[in-house]
Amino acid sequence: MAYCGKCGNQIDEGVKFCPVCGAALQVEQPEAVQPEPQQPVQPEPTAEEKLQQATQTIDSVAQKLGNTAEHSAVYDKTDAEANKVMA
Ligand SMILES: [Zn+2]
Repeated sequence: MAYCGKCGNQIDEGVKFCPVCGAALQVEQPEAVQPEPQQPVQPEPTAEEKLQQATQTIDSVAQKLGNTAEHSAVYDKTDAEANKVMA
């Protein structure tokens, strides 16, 4: 048997609300205890992946600011010129 923690009324097992005062019952029931789902162990991201994530974050911020097009245009030009020099 369970008892309402608010009004002390005796309540049948399995009832979720006290029929007298309507309080939600915090009845200790084994079914409420669920085992923590085991998270699959994910491999530690490599430095490169971390850098990619950081870059993506920066890109998304730049997109919000509306600077993405200008920024990539400058970057592409610099990159192309660097490649020319390299070649
Ligand atoms: Zn009650």
